Amino acid sequence: MVMKVIPISSGRTPAPAFAGGTLRDTLGRSMHDLRISVTDRCNFRCVYCMPREVFDANYTFLPHSAILSFEEIARLARIFVGLGVEKIRLTGGEPLVRRDLHRLVAMLKELDVELTLTTNGSLLAKNAQALAQAGLDRVTVSLDSLDEATFRAMNDVDFPVAKVLESIDAAAAAGLSPVKVNMVVKRGVNDGDILPMAERWRGSGHIARFIEYMDVGSSNGWRMDDVVPSAEVVRRISERWPLEPVGANYAGEVAARWRYVDGAGEIGVISSVTQAFCGSCTRMRLSTEGALFTCLFAQSGHDLKSLLRGGASDEEIRDQIAAVWQRRADRYSEIRTSETAKLRKVEMSYIGG
Ligand code: SAM
Ligand code: SF4
Ligand code: SF4
Repeated sequence: MVMKVIPISSGRTPAPAFAGGTLRDTLGRSMHDLRISVTDRCNFRCVYCMPREVFDANYTFLPHSAILSFEEIARLARIFVGLGVEKIRLTGGEPLVRRDLHRLVAMLKELDVELTLTTNGSLLAKNAQALAQAGLDRVTVSLDSLDEATFRAMNDVDFPVAKVLESIDAAAAAGLSPVKVNMVVKRGVNDGDILPMAERWRGSGHIARFIEYMDVGSSNGWRMDDVVPSAEVVRRISERWPLEPVGANYAGEVAARWRYVDGAGEIGVISSVTQAFCGSCTRMRLSTEGALFTCLFAQSGHDLKSLLRGGASDEEIRDQIAAVWQRRADRYSEIRTSETAKLRKVEMSYIGG
């Protein structure tokens, strides 16, 4: 699928110069987090993200010349930080299939931001030490089930649970903790794994996070019936190990936090379908080829690569980004219907999860 990317360097609508202060979008939201997709490729074919019927041998991934270099990413990141970004997450696709990712981490570390990575864990064990040494602060590892058959069916490349668990241990040993362990819950597929997952990470120092299955992209055949509401996840866990709510770490935090009353740590639930949090959404996404997306469910992005490669100054790029943010009115999850779910949206592996 070719994603529509809108040029923002045409000059027909000059960007208002950014004069400092807090940048706000049309709904009063500031810009705080930047997610950077470093590759649109992945070595898994998770059924809810890159179903193999679509992402098969004929699927055209981005050619090397189209993707941003580490230097280009670092330059843009510096500009975003100047506009208020305080947190950067590297993602993809699978970010660790991009060679020498620790080099990018070291470049971004100079920016004095919180730096994290989301990974499927397949290549983390051998990279954890180098990433930590380069300055990565923490990792989130995706793991949809502890049951071997269910996990292998969900990643659809027969990848074993043990290797992901090994990665989580390696990340902790390298100091990248607490590790957040993400589980996308799909009814009838892995909702039987909610309690085992909670039990596995209770008292471990790591944090299990349960994500509602979302209608990202246009290829996963999402249906509302497949969604297990977070309220149900919390109820099911709480019936076994009582939970109580905890306040957010910071405004705009994606996961709602719950802690075990017996002191065995906490869990997070991400309820983008049943309890939309667009009102506090401070996230931007930079795609692998340098397009800027102001919402995970966007149908088009804004071309920053042409500015970068066309000789624009940092100030010109900054003003264009500021203008995109000032026009931002996204609130997809608040207006989602079964009809909007059918719209052609950008794939999560391209935009960055
Ligand atoms: N490959 C890495 C990974 O899996 O952790 C990073 C990219 S992945 C797109 C980022 C996160 O998005 C993962 O935790 C994944 O489970 C989640 N995700 C992907 N598709 C999803 C969907 N349809 N609904 C909810 N979460 C999804
Ligand atoms: Fe790959 Fe992550 Fe998508 Fe799974 S969720 S297919 S690991 S990008
Ligand atoms: Fe943010 Fe878009 Fe998600 Fe709403 S739907 S929380 S605006 S990314």
